[in-house]
Amino acid sequence: MKIIRKIIKERTFVDPKDGKTKSRFGYRGHNRIAWIIVHYTGDRYSQGCAKKTADAMQTWKRAISTHYLVGDDAIYQTVEDRHCAWHCPYNKDNKCAASNSVAIGVDLVEHKRNTKSKSVKDRDWYFTEKVILDGAHLVAMLADKYIIPMDHIVRHFDVTGKWCPRPFVGNDTNEITGDTHENAWIMFKERVRLARRCSDDV
Ligand SMILES: [Zn+2]
Repeated sequence: MKIIRKIIKERTFVDPKDGKTKSRFGYRGHNRIAWIIVHYTGDRYSQGCAKKTADAMQTWKRAISTHYLVGDDAIYQTVEDRHCAWHCPYNKDNKCAASNSVAIGVDLVEHKRNTKSKSVKDRDWYFTEKVILDGAHLVAMLADKYIIPMDHIVRHFDVTGKWCPRPFVGNDTNEITGDTHENAWIMFKERVRLARRCSDDV
């Protein structure tokens, strides 16, 4: 699997909103990687292009990052696995123990048919078959590498309730695929399971 490394070099930036120095990623300390959290970019203009977000992340003045961006163009890595990316902060109200310090963030890069609306409720956010397949293989590879059980491969939604990644969240039917979003997540997890080298035991 080819992964283009475009690691964020400048860790800190000054936030123009409050003049404070903030970071684009952090350090794990002794925390072990035990979870994989799947996201989408939520950018209606992404249209499957991972490079666009990988490039923007290098210099943007936002404390938001991810380890991997899986697009139609390529897979990009933007934060080293051994560091924390800022995609799912710890919160006492989280529904499970997954958070930045113990997780790897994988963003699947979506398409949106109608770019006039950016509502998360829209049913036209979707992933291409390529992104789903490459994403499943990447997640399987990472899960095997760090010995992560299937129930520790979760959506952002499963941690905080946020509708992310939207193409995999909701009992309503997607306009492009004709499938329910919830079922698309079940199918994705099944693809991950099948792609693992030791699928039955973990
Ligand atoms: Zn997310």
